[in-house]
Amino acid sequence: MINVTSLSFDKEVEDSVLGVIRSGNIAQGPKVREFEEKFAQLSNTKHAVALNNGTTSLIASLQVLGIGLGDEVITSPFTFIATINAILSTGATAILADINLEDFNIDVESIKSLITPRTKAIMPVHLYGQMANMIEIEKIAIEHNLFIVEDSAQSHGASIEGRMAGSFGLGSFSFYATKNLTTGEGGIITTNDDSIAEELRILRNQGMRSKYEYVMQGNNYRMTDLQAALVIPQLNKYETVIQKRSFNASYLNNALSDCDSLVTPSQLPGRKHVWHQFTIALEENLNRQTFVENMAGQGINVGIYYPALVCDYQLYSNHPLVKQGNMSNARSLAKRVVSLPIHEKLTESELLEIAKATKYSEENSNEN
Ligand SMILES: *Cc1c(COP(=O)(O)O)cnc(C)c1O
Repeated sequence: MINVTSLSFDKEVEDSVLGVIRSGNIAQGPKVREFEEKFAQLSNTKHAVALNNGTTSLIASLQVLGIGLGDEVITSPFTFIATINAILSTGATAILADINLEDFNIDVESIKSLITPRTKAIMPVHLYGQMANMIEIEKIAIEHNLFIVEDSAQSHGASIEGRMAGSFGLGSFSFYATKNLTTGEGGIITTNDDSIAEELRILRNQGMRSKYEYVMQGNNYRMTDLQAALVIPQLNKYETVIQKRSFNASYLNNALSDCDSLVTPSQLPGRKHVWHQFTIALEENLNRQTFVENMAGQGINVGIYYPALVCDYQLYSNHPLVKQGNMSNARSLAKRVVSLPIHEKLTESELLEIAKATKYSEENSNEN
């Protein structure tokens, strides 16, 4: 079977992790610091503060901005559940906007229509590796005096007009095992603000500024050197990984260009897509379940990111702190998306197999 993700590590990663084990410094230490410096470089930000996972990175981002009960955060409903869990964890209200069908990201006009005096932040999700329209979102944020927290969990190294993911406000990234860069579990927050970076370092370490000097209610959000050692060698090769993923995306886009019942993903002008996922949308005439089964029958495992909107689950559908705007694009898309394997380990013959299986499945998954 060809899978959506394939994890394996080279000798350099093994040596890097082994070095930490042998050093005896397995908790947060010099490797985390090195990782933070390298990641800030990648994201072209002044600071990067590493945390234990992407969800706590979102939570800490909101916390450090003082967002909580009574505040509203506008985000996309077409995302991983962590986005909304993070907002609700702070006590704030999640306001769900619509997405646009070009990049599957939060829609600029929809954001504008949902701003109230209680709005404190916009939390766009850069889905599948392509950034939301941050140029316009930044204008809205400035005009209405709102914070920006980018959920960049899927978009390490992506950019728009040459400006990097995570550089527009606070950027929250994940290094979970399936992401483009991984520490198994891990997260990081990028910022250009010195005092926010400083506060985040205190927040992640029990609110402690120096030994036993507690200045805020903190938590243990720390990453370990073992985790950092896993990802540092990946960072050095990451540009090559992005290039291979882009190549794979072009290959599949070309191979599938004559499939009338599939909408293939594109990199919009001015944006650098890092192809975390290659997500197609099936036209209404196709049955997704049948399509997925056909793909599996041809040896290809696909992913569905995401089968439902975050507010479609019963626990959030009538939640007092989850407010739903018009989400018609998001609703339509959630029923139709399928993500094909795109990862950098794929060979050209595997890409050919994926393309063939997709064409076969397109022709054999009609509703009737
Ligand atoms: C993975 C992911 C997260 C959460 O990251 P974890 O490291 O798994 O906690 C948040 N948002 C999005 C969009 C994600 O894909």
